Amino acid sequence: MKRTLPVQKNDCIDVVFEDLTHDGAGVAKVDGYPLFVKNGLPGEKAKIKVIKVNKSYGVGRLLDLYERSPYRVDIPKEDAPKYGGCQLAHISYEGQLKYKENQVRQVIARIGKIEGARIHPIIGMDNPWQYRNKAQVPVGEKDGKLVAGFFKPRTHEIIDTDESVIQLPEVNEAIHTVKEICSGLGIPAYNEESHSGVLRHIMARYGRQTEELMVVLITRTDKIPRQNELVEHIVSRLPKVKSVIHNVNPKRTNVILGEKTETLWGRDVIYDMIGNVKFAISALSFYQVNPVQTKVLYEKALEYAELTGSETVIDAYCGIGTISLFLAQKAQKVFGVEVVPEAVEDAKRNAALNGMLNVNFKAGKAEEVIPKWYEEGNTADVLVVDPPRKGCDESLLRTILEMKPRKVVYVSCNPATLARDLRILEDGGYRTTDVQPVDQFPQTVHVEAVARLVLGCSPQINFSDPK
Ligand code: SAH
Repeated sequence: MKRTLPVQKNDCIDVVFEDLTHDGAGVAKVDGYPLFVKNGLPGEKAKIKVIKVNKSYGVGRLLDLYERSPYRVDIPKEDAPKYGGCQLAHISYEGQLKYKENQVRQVIARIGKIEGARIHPIIGMDNPWQYRNKAQVPVGEKDGKLVAGFFKPRTHEIIDTDESVIQLPEVNEAIHTVKEICSGLGIPAYNEESHSGVLRHIMARYGRQTEELMVVLITRTDKIPRQNELVEHIVSRLPKVKSVIHNVNPKRTNVILGEKTETLWGRDVIYDMIGNVKFAISALSFYQVNPVQTKVLYEKALEYAELTGSETVIDAYCGIGTISLFLAQKAQKVFGVEVVPEAVEDAKRNAALNGMLNVNFKAGKAEEVIPKWYEEGNTADVLVVDPPRKGCDESLLRTILEMKPRKVVYVSCNPATLARDLRILEDGGYRTTDVQPVDQFPQTVHVEAVARLVLGCSPQINFSDPK
């Protein structure tokens, strides 16, 4: 029999928000039926309009607030474009941290059913604004001038915003200045619909520690009109620039960067430091966007690994080797595994740059490379994983349970898959002792955490010495 829903589309009703979803929407319930409403905060009483009903949940739009949350912050309407991508900017930072910490606590208990782990208070930023070291903005044209910013949701229209409240001022300034220069020189913007024109995106990257700036111009065409003048202006107006790069993307695609890259001026890379480790960053390489909190997260991972200098460590999902190089400062040997071959090349170069001879990197899937290492008789004292949002592959977790490293350090960007994987490791004999949430992306819904697991004290287990 078809169940009738407690609300109909277009109903206007009064609700109280009880919770927030993982993407920051308010949750209200009518006879147990959940309604998701953007901009609603727990504890608030509001009038909403039901705009969509599905079998198991509905979606509403906030019409009026009767009671405000003490965590609510108002953003003036005219400032809204500067807050693009900030799903939680309507919540005070204190409220954001509380929400993220709770989310970790809840999923660890509900999905992971983990008991006895210390879940520490989240580590936030002193200044939760202006932290992103990179921006890549699409370019368009309006009234004969260049505009750059972001796409209006569900359209191809670009909202002209030079500034984002979460980007470093140097990054905002670089984007604004390059846009002005290109506009002044009459360089045509790319037109998505007709697949014509030249300039598709402007990208800027800034090394916060080294104060080095990279500008990347992404064009449809092989040639940039008035290229020499353009480069001269960029170099004279942005004194921190160390590298001007041209990337060609001739395809009809949403992917930003193309395959062809040339250096127009200066170096191919800029450098930056996380702690004592130096990184070379090219236009195409992945690099953490908030190095301040990355350092906090990795220091915690290092602390949880409890290295004394004699350990063999495996860093699965190692990317450009950021964590591997951090660990290599304190371990005897580190082996990193990463599926993207270009990232492995970056990792090797970064190891050489820091004169670190005790790290090795292998390109391949963690769930294929690590079992093979184990079959060949290799083992590790500490295993670190930092998987993408979907978590660890189950076959990797099975190998960990056979290999039995004394400690597992799990760095996670998704508490739900972290909790799921902790459960599997606990069922196999590990115990989660600590979980530390770290706020890597203030104003956004992303939540990062690092967990420490130790092998249970079972008398059958032999620890073999590292080879
Ligand atoms: N630890 C790194 C990167 C973490 S992001 C850092 O802190 O910078 C996760 C990484 O896992 C990405 O670089 C991604 O390319 C890689 N990856 C995804 N699936 C993988 C797999 N099956 N095996 C190995 N690496 C994988």
